[in-house]
Amino acid sequence: RYPMRLQRYLARAGVASRRGSERLMSEGRVRVNGEVVSELGSKVDPARDLVTVDGRACTIEERPCYLMLYKPAGYLTTMSDPQGRPCVAELVPTRAHPGLFPVGRLDLDTTGLLLFTTNGDVGQELLHPSRHVSKHYVALVSGTPDERGLERLRAGVTLEDGPAAPAEAELLDASDPLFSLVAPRGPGRTGAGEPNAVVGLTIHEGRKHQVKKMLMAVGHRVLRLHRDSFGPLALSDVAEGNYRTLNDNEVRALE
Ligand code: URA
Repeated sequence: RYPMRLQRYLARAGVASRRGSERLMSEGRVRVNGEVVSELGSKVDPARDLVTVDGRACTIEERPCYLMLYKPAGYLTTMSDPQGRPCVAELVPTRAHPGLFPVGRLDLDTTGLLLFTTNGDVGQELLHPSRHVSKHYVALVSGTPDERGLERLRAGVTLEDGPAAPAEAELLDASDPLFSLVAPRGPGRTGAGEPNAVVGLTIHEGRKHQVKKMLMAVGHRVLRLHRDSFGPLALSDVAEGNYRTLNDNEVRALE
C-alpha cells in the first residue's frame, strides 16, 4: 500500500477530504520533507517522509479503528445521503477516523449493534457469505408464532430470492432482558392493543430485510427489530445513539 498518493495520505491523516487535500496541495500549503509539493500525482512513504500542512506535521493511524454503534431507529445505514436524511455517519467520529464504514446494514427502523471499522479487509471478510457470521435479533411480531412456525424457521424457510439457511428461533418471555428492547409496553400487547410476541432469532446470512422476510414467510409481520450481537460482538456498555471503541479482546476476536 506504500508509497501512497499524497492526497490520500492527507485524507487518511484526517486533514481534509481527498478533494480538500488536493486543494491544500494546489495552494502550496503542503510540504514533504520541507519541499512544497503541489503535483497531484506525488507519492509519499509514511514511514520515511515528513508531511506538513501549514507547517504542522501529519501522522496517520497505524492501528485501524473499530467501534460499535448502538444505532437508533430513524437513521439510514450510509455514510452520506444526497437527500440529507439522518444517517449513521453523523453518530460516529468520521473526522478522527476518515475511512470509517459500517460493516453490513441495518434497516432505517432497526435498532442495535452496527460495527464500524477503517479496516477494509476485515470488513469485507466479515460480510463474505462463506464466513457465516452469526447475528442475533429480537423481533416484536404480530401474532404469536406456534411451534410449527418456529420449526420452519429452524429448518430454513424459502424466500423469494431462494432458501434461507436454518436459523435458531425461540419465543422470548417478559423475564428475558432482551424482551423490553422491542416491547417496552409489557407482555402481550402493543399500544394499539394488537396481540404480539417477541421472537429471538439467530441468522448466519445477511440478505436484505432477511429477518423481516423470514418472519413474514411464517405469517408474522415485524413491528420492531433490534440486533444485539454480530459475530463475536455483543452490544454492551453503550447507550442508544452512542458508540464505543472495541476493546483488545473484541478486536482480536474479529481479526
Ligand atoms: N433483517 C432485517 O429484516 N432488517 C434488518 O435491519 C436486519 C436484518
